[in-house]
Amino acid sequence: MDFAALKQTLEKLGYTVSCFDTAQEACDYLDSQVDKTTVGFGGSLSLEQMGLYERLSSHNDVSWHWHVPKGTDTRPIRLKENAASVYFSSVNALAETGEIINIDGTGNRVASMFYGHDRLYLIVGKNKIAPDYESALFRARNVASPRNAQRLGVKTPCAVKGDRCYDCKSPARICRGLAVLWECLSGAHIEIVLINEDLGY
Ligand code: SF4
Repeated sequence: MDFAALKQTLEKLGYTVSCFDTAQEACDYLDSQVDKTTVGFGGSLSLEQMGLYERLSSHNDVSWHWHVPKGTDTRPIRLKENAASVYFSSVNALAETGEIINIDGTGNRVASMFYGHDRLYLIVGKNKIAPDYESALFRARNVASPRNAQRLGVKTPCAVKGDRCYDCKSPARICRGLAVLWECLSGAHIEIVLINEDLGY
């Protein structure tokens, strides 16, 4: 996929944009950019697949509630993530028109997208890119969320086949908030890392 037009669109919206052919190259770059600082990770299969946690942990203070012993109370860890200087998340969908969409259940990840960090990095595999806002929203709701529900093994109708959203009202519903970035927030430094590989859902 040629990222040139998307990069230009995102830069016009105030973002810093970096592009890589592989997750490995992106990981090498990020490892060189983030050093001796506090780092928080949002829940993200893309980040896990990249192996970024292991790379950054060797020379940063990294908090991630996905990497704690089973049974740990994750709330203090999530709060530490939210207070870190640098934060990493992936996205559920990115529209080629520039809108960035995330759906969240707990809210820690979308809270960090909106405020509080010196730097925010958003990791985007090519599978997350959709032509426009409507198709990006559809993707977030009907691809990313059901597959995440299936991965988590929650008791929701979408988790059976991971095929689509059933707009459930289940107590186990993982979709509780929708966040859309229309453009880079005032005063924020947000870097979008485009990777020409499929990552996450
Ligand atoms: S709203 Fe319910 S059915 Fe739809 S994706 Fe979320 S958890 Fe699944």
